[in-house]
Amino acid sequence: MVLNSSIRYVDDSLIIDELNITAIVEETGTPVYIYSLKRVLENYRRLRLAFARLRAHLHFSVKSNGSLAILRALKDAGAGFDCVSAGEIHLALEAGARGEEIVFAGVGKTRAEIAYAISKGISWFNAENVLELRYINEAAAEAGVDTVRVALRLNPQVTANTHPYMATGHGAAKFGLTEDVIREVLARQDEYPRIDFSGIHIHIGSQLGDNAATLSAVDKLLRLIRPWSQIRMINLGGGLPVAYRFDEAIPSLDEFVGTLASRLRGYEILLEPGRSLVADAGILVAEILYVKRQAGQIFYIVDASMAEMIRPALYGAHHEIVPLRKTDGEMIRAHVVGPVCESADVLARDRRLPLLREGDKLALLTAGAYGMAMASNYNARPRPGEVVVDGERWWISRRRETYGDLVRYET
Ligand SMILES: *Cc1c(COP(=O)(O)O)cnc(C)c1O
Repeated sequence: MVLNSSIRYVDDSLIIDELNITAIVEETGTPVYIYSLKRVLENYRRLRLAFARLRAHLHFSVKSNGSLAILRALKDAGAGFDCVSAGEIHLALEAGARGEEIVFAGVGKTRAEIAYAISKGISWFNAENVLELRYINEAAAEAGVDTVRVALRLNPQVTANTHPYMATGHGAAKFGLTEDVIREVLARQDEYPRIDFSGIHIHIGSQLGDNAATLSAVDKLLRLIRPWSQIRMINLGGGLPVAYRFDEAIPSLDEFVGTLASRLRGYEILLEPGRSLVADAGILVAEILYVKRQAGQIFYIVDASMAEMIRPALYGAHHEIVPLRKTDGEMIRAHVVGPVCESADVLARDRRLPLLREGDKLALLTAGAYGMAMASNYNARPRPGEVVVDGERWWISRRRETYGDLVRYET
């Protein structure tokens, strides 16, 4: 059975690229994240190709997965980075990126973050507040920087077809600036002598279920900037969806690009994909600690939880779960739950799974985005390690945290 080009069954064993996952986790222990660099780069090349007509520059959204090994691989492949905090800028720089390969978004940038970004020579600010523009202008003056490029982030007031927590472009959202405010800012741009307002930005949400809202947002954006020929760069944000279910169909990228191509001709185009580059390149492996039969149900209590993977608890997200070793045995319905003291700590509800035993291992699929990046130490759980697979090689790119790490910052 092929799950994707990197993660599949061979002789009933789940493998990642050419490596047996059971053999890896015997050395690392569980829970552990495992990523295929090959799959990340395939995803990158696929997007590059799909958007080739727009000659789009891809800036990987660091918040989806901040593993330095992944950032380095993407950098070497030619990607830039989209950062939403000074911490993420630091990660991108650590991975070897130059400031000019970094764009900086965020609805609440501190003055310190703004000064840091300017000192690193980042290429674009995606600005979301009017006062922020004053801060950018002042920080540039203090640093002796003549020009900082700003792309105003438009809140196009469209409602994306996604989970409410992942929609960012509707009228009630905190993100972006409305059309009226953007017009006003552009009319008074002389008040910011060190800012070059030559870009515009939208990001209407994540895991977008169809292209309609994006297209309507782009049309609004184009109408808005028509009188301002100085705007040469359009940043379309991220949000491209991935299939979390085996049977899930996602909107056609080619169709989307085809529709956009004629509208966007002549502009420099930036994209900020996160999930679509890394989600299906990663898995979270867990071991079954207990099989509990209670009140007519079967619970697989595993050693991974909402602390390591919060998406099911936070968004009601669906992740497919498969055993590392396939069996021909009986199929049952089970809940896969973690050890955390929260009823929300359910990784999968009522799934058709083989009847398994304590010690058997499961892989939670499509875990490469917003998995480790959102992990916490809740219940004083050390965060898991991360393994990177590169062809026939694998290594621990981040070690599992220790109990010592849990008290490290206490004074
Ligand atoms: C989160 C985010 C992205 C990435 O979104 P994905 O859905 O992971 O592609 C891109 N741009 C901005 C501004 C973001 O906040």
